[in-house]
Amino acid sequence: MYKVIAISGSSGSGKTTVSEEILKRAKKLVYFDFGFLFRPITYYLVNELNMDEDSIKNMVLSGQLQRFIKVTYKVINNKVEVGVNGKFYSFDVLNTPKMNMDTITVGTIIGDTLNDALRSIVDDLKKENNVLLNARRPIVAYPKADCHIFLEASFDERIKRKMLMNNEDYETTLKKLKKRDEKEETSGFWEKYDFTKIIDTTNLTKEEAVDKVLQVIKNEFVSFNNLTLILGSYKCNKNCPYCIAKNNKKFSADDNLDYLDEVFNELLKYKIKFKRFVVSGNGEPSFYSLENLKIIRDLLIKYQELFEIVRVHSSGNIFSEEKKFKLFNLSNLPLEFEVLRVALNPYIDMNILGYDEDYLKTNSFHEGNIKCDIALTDYLEADELKFKLYNFLEDNPSIKKVRLKSLLAGDSTNTKQAQWVRKHSLSADKIQMIIEELGLNLNDGIYSSDDGKIIYKTNGDYTFDYVINDGIFQNYNNEKCSMKVLRRKLGG
Ligand code: SF4
Repeated sequence: MYKVIAISGSSGSGKTTVSEEILKRAKKLVYFDFGFLFRPITYYLVNELNMDEDSIKNMVLSGQLQRFIKVTYKVINNKVEVGVNGKFYSFDVLNTPKMNMDTITVGTIIGDTLNDALRSIVDDLKKENNVLLNARRPIVAYPKADCHIFLEASFDERIKRKMLMNNEDYETTLKKLKKRDEKEETSGFWEKYDFTKIIDTTNLTKEEAVDKVLQVIKNEFVSFNNLTLILGSYKCNKNCPYCIAKNNKKFSADDNLDYLDEVFNELLKYKIKFKRFVVSGNGEPSFYSLENLKIIRDLLIKYQELFEIVRVHSSGNIFSEEKKFKLFNLSNLPLEFEVLRVALNPYIDMNILGYDEDYLKTNSFHEGNIKCDIALTDYLEADELKFKLYNFLEDNPSIKKVRLKSLLAGDSTNTKQAQWVRKHSLSADKIQMIIEELGLNLNDGIYSSDDGKIIYKTNGDYTFDYVINDGIFQNYNNEKCSMKVLRRKLGG
């Protein structure tokens, strides 16, 4: 998972110089100056389409700009170049005195209109690189930035730098900079946030400023999605016909919990954290002894800063084991329990998944924060599903989120499990009908109900998900991973 580092700062603070230098020194980094967007668009509108200021204003106000302009990009020497409707222009064409003036006018008119297009470029770049984003208001332009660095310097020092840069006298530079400062401040270009790292470059050489910025970037945690602890035991009170663990037998049956502290410690050392820590297993985690579960729970408390939320997978058995349930539930960890059902009706669910105690009837189930996955199979009561599902949620208010889930067939295609999944999974058409019946809307790749309680997401990308099994940090292909290499790869 790569990072987006946003950089902004006052005029003359060294923002562009430092960014350019960082680009030379950092690994896997692409530089995207949002300012580069306005020049090609200005050129296209003014010179190719011969539009004047009023017609550009009308186009923007009527919402036609986004329809008329398709922003494309290419990466040359780790810098993003922006094109308009497939056209790219040379530096010389875009950097004439007339273009400087035109860009200010057109840029002011366009403002934030094209932020969506910019965001999708950044999202795209982020798939394979860290992105250094240079913009006047980078967090407005890209709110999901992982880190924001603001460079500043004293007014006198900035005047000195500008005089040198533009070969101008003191009075002219002072007047210009004062005017610019006022405009930048009122336009929100100096906005700082709780997470902003401010670096004062007044007394720093270029190299020192670059070192400081790199230090901030390197010290930032990189954040991945899921780190799953796969406990080895296959013991479970259910007999789910889709159980991947039992069919693939991919992960070790050993635990080596003694190494867990070491793995967490190394994550801390290499500044790697995860959105979720998932307590899971080849079988049901709550069959582990209270002592072993306590070791895990205590380590999660100790290394809480590494995870935003802890998710405990369960067959449902943990709700019948009060002490084990409370061990997690009363821990003050940000916590959710996850169960997976094929049917809302307990009798069907128990019959298909082969278990004999209805966890919905336990007190603990109603005390936890529950995420309930529902498999999209032909056992789901599709008729009047919306009515039945909302009744189910009313009866079980501890379920805070429902995720409709397409089951995975696993690595081997001929296992009993894979055959069962293929036989019973709903077709794409039927899934679409369910999405419509439940009134789920597509947003950012996720179908969601208006209240956000019911979601459907096609199975995600596990490239940046990791597991701990047998005390070893590894990927889902069962390959041991080095955190040092991972961190280096991501520019740390
Ligand atoms: S609850 Fe999980 S571990 Fe147990 S049989 Fe079902 S899928 Fe397998």
